[in-house]
Amino acid sequence: LIKMTIGWHFDNTYSKLSNTFKENIKPTPVHDPELVILNEELASTLNLDFSKTDKKKLAEIFSGNSIPEETNTIAQAYAGHQFGHFTMLGDGRAVLLGEHLVNNDNRFDIQFKGSGRTSFSRGGDGRAALGPMLREYIISEAIHSLNIPTTRSLAVVKTGEKVVRENLLQGAILTRVASSHLRVGTFQYIAATQNIENLNTLVDYTINRHYPEIKKSNSKASDLLNLVMEKQCQLVVNWMRVGFIHGVMNTDNMAISGETIDYGPCAFMDHYDPKTVFSSIDKFGRYAFSNQPPITKWNLARFAECLIPLIDKNEDTAIKLATDLIDNFQNIYEDKWLNMMRDKLGLFGEDKNDKKLINDLFNWMEKNKADYTNTFCNLMDINSDEIYKNNDFINWKNEWKKRSELNNSTKEKQSKLMKSNNPIVIPRNHKVEEALAEADKGSLDKMKKLLAILKNPYDNQNNIEEYQTPAPSSNEKYQTFCGT
Ligand code: AMP
Ligand code: MG
Repeated sequence: LIKMTIGWHFDNTYSKLSNTFKENIKPTPVHDPELVILNEELASTLNLDFSKTDKKKLAEIFSGNSIPEETNTIAQAYAGHQFGHFTMLGDGRAVLLGEHLVNNDNRFDIQFKGSGRTSFSRGGDGRAALGPMLREYIISEAIHSLNIPTTRSLAVVKTGEKVVRENLLQGAILTRVASSHLRVGTFQYIAATQNIENLNTLVDYTINRHYPEIKKSNSKASDLLNLVMEKQCQLVVNWMRVGFIHGVMNTDNMAISGETIDYGPCAFMDHYDPKTVFSSIDKFGRYAFSNQPPITKWNLARFAECLIPLIDKNEDTAIKLATDLIDNFQNIYEDKWLNMMRDKLGLFGEDKNDKKLINDLFNWMEKNKADYTNTFCNLMDINSDEIYKNNDFINWKNEWKKRSELNNSTKEKQSKLMKSNNPIVIPRNHKVEEALAEADKGSLDKMKKLLAILKNPYDNQNNIEEYQTPAPSSNEKYQTFCGT
């Protein structure tokens, strides 16, 4: 009956793979689940209808206490380079319910995060705390509204149980929706087992699911590498566009689909500094803002290594081919990045001085600690903070206006281009923290208001000044922690 009213349509292809790829396991039931938030808009795009399900039943569903029919719950195996070190990992606190089909055609993983221990848990408790799960909810939905590919958040429940971290925290489970959870680390796991049959299975599975256009290719492995590189490149360019710092770009946190995945210590940069790092454990700035492109390339090189046995029978030939492909990253990235920056500045066509113009702006922002988001807002006449009355900035603006005259287009078109590329509002760190602190005490008002504003980041909304202002600078640097 529930199935009929809600509209689940499960078809679980991953759980049919051999046991090397996963462990069959159910979520561990929780003591006293309570629904915190349900993403009704996302539910409706998934053709799901929870309107006839009462809150108690919703809590049962999204805690895993009551599992929909036709699911086949598993924990997925994967490995990963964490801060450069290779480790066998896997879903240590997540369970995949299955793949929900929308219109028989669009396939979405439905996963619980924080659902209990699995054979991949190592020392962990398999659980998650309320703050980090709501944080993932806020930031992933914000990234989605910024038109950047990402996993999404369908619901969060409190478990009614405590989790032990530095303090005792409220336990929670997030329901995550993804086009898949295939990671670079999934390939690393299978490659490490040195079973070529399984590696072929994984490549075919991935191509069927994400890149069917190369199904019939004679060079599937290298084609896959190219397509994933293209997607990852586009993703990181988008992050750079909005000032997003993922914070933990380990290879297990890089989705083959090109979606942003695993929101842990991520945060948005306020004043422009390419070395910005928020994560407390990233001591050497491996995942700093400006390091995101080279790290993407590094991760893709790890992906390429997994594919070597399938790229060519002759290992030397395969390595040469893969190396050439990966070395192309720089060109692809720079091209995409430059065009993205032209879009932000409303520049049409190409001029040989574009790169210099852009770099001059970055240098000015860095030297003057200008807010990244608001600087582009100023160029759209939306922000008139004192800092933009600075002479160097006015001179730069004049250069920019001169370049704009080469556009061969209208002011309206320039403005339209800028408005669709420069967010007016982002999840400001202090606003996120404020919302989470309130939510921890039981009130969702602030979080819901924040979510509503972040739904339209490119619109000039009324009365949102407090969401546009960076946190007042204090002695204490903003720090984030891994999603524990
Ligand atoms: P993450 O930092 O969230 O990408 O997680 C890295 C690895 O640690 C993954 O294999 C997770 O499943 C595992 N992990 C993280 N937190 C826990 C936990 N509380 N219990 C068990 N495993 C965990
Ligand atoms: Mg992870």
